Amino acid sequence: MSGGIEADGALIRTHVLCRIPPLPDETDRSYLGALMRVNGFQTETEFREHVAKWTSIQNWNRTSVPTVELLATVATTQIEDFARHHTLIPLRRGITAHLPTVIHGCANHQTLLRQTNFGQRRGRAFFCSECVAPDQQMHGRSYWRREHQVPGLSWCPKHRVPLRIALDKTAVLKSPSRFIDSKEADSFEQIQKWIEVPSIKTYLDVCSSLLDTAKPFDARAVRIVLKRQAKNRGIRSMHTTAKRHPNSPSVSDIAWRIFPAEWLKSVLEITGSEGCGSELPQLETAVRQAGGGTFVSYALAIATLFESADDAMAVLGGSTQTKIRRPAGEINLTRERLLSLYTQCGGNYSQVSALTGIGYGSVSRRLVKMGLPALRAEHGRLLLPAIDMFLLHVLSLEQSAKSSGVPLERLELFLREACTPLLSLFNTMFSKRPERTIGAPRERLLATKESR
Ligand SMILES: [Zn+2]
Repeated sequence: MSGGIEADGALIRTHVLCRIPPLPDETDRSYLGALMRVNGFQTETEFREHVAKWTSIQNWNRTSVPTVELLATVATTQIEDFARHHTLIPLRRGITAHLPTVIHGCANHQTLLRQTNFGQRRGRAFFCSECVAPDQQMHGRSYWRREHQVPGLSWCPKHRVPLRIALDKTAVLKSPSRFIDSKEADSFEQIQKWIEVPSIKTYLDVCSSLLDTAKPFDARAVRIVLKRQAKNRGIRSMHTTAKRHPNSPSVSDIAWRIFPAEWLKSVLEITGSEGCGSELPQLETAVRQAGGGTFVSYALAIATLFESADDAMAVLGGSTQTKIRRPAGEINLTRERLLSLYTQCGGNYSQVSALTGIGYGSVSRRLVKMGLPALRAEHGRLLLPAIDMFLLHVLSLEQSAKSSGVPLERLELFLREACTPLLSLFNTMFSKRPERTIGAPRERLLATKESR
């Protein structure tokens, strides 16, 4: 608050700011609102001007410093860390052809810092009514979470109840508890049909991984990966090839087949009678043109072409992301605890992520580093006899895969990822050897090369 003291007849204005820390996964706008409330400001402009003076930013004017930079200063965190953990920038530009080598929150690219939310959900804010009371008890206030704003997620992953929508444009500057009676995004019956759908889970896992990235994936490299994956699965990626491959399904055909139609129409904002079976230009373009999609269309295309987020992120080079500072919760999670959770969850990364409350991407990186590959239920059971045949009965890799019924490429990926700690050790032992990443197939190397 601004205050004043008299000194030699002149009014010297002092600027005091009551500071509170941002909460886990809290959005920047939610944090801004909390700071405004605790300091008694009614408008964002007043608050921005006050903070700018408090931080003694010289030559400050209303447009020169992005709000997110002011908030990072108040939170005493690096702008990059704040952008990564408290804005939707990592998801919005998770896959992009525009400045793909620029890390999220880079202070040298202020235009990238000015849009911290999504255009799609602008004017609508989502929260979980079941999260409100525990948040108030634990943190002293309820708040808006980033994960609840992901398009296509209309339920709380923790409480499995419908999210509620606040339509007030300034809602995120207020406490969610004020909107406790607002309407539900979807009915309870509706979300029950969607929560366990594997393709939706994959889509949400992909979004979760993107939300946890320190820098974007290069859309050019992603397009190469998507096109190759479509080709390998016999899926047409371009409508122009329809004449040559009349019997092959298109990406749109597969999407309509694996996603519930109502959900797909909702997430792509398809209105009216249009839909069911029609071409989905958003997905086709993501596969066809570098930089031709939004994060939603990329995440949908990835979930359409890959069986799991684990498979997709391994190929897209999740482990090649920029080194990042770990959040406190992640640091506290010991190797032993992570191993125990991995065992408990049968190698399912998504479940480990849900139990720890740590982002899917972070969990994935740590488990791969420990040599603990992701296991899908159907392959997990088959992998053990395959490994048994390969290691103990000394059969060839092909024979082991064929005898146990597990796809050869799956067995190869498993072994590559299981050898990650060994390769890391080799890299240390023979330091002249260039740093290499295990299981780096052509796609991953391409992704790495192009994203530099
Ligand atoms: Zn909740």
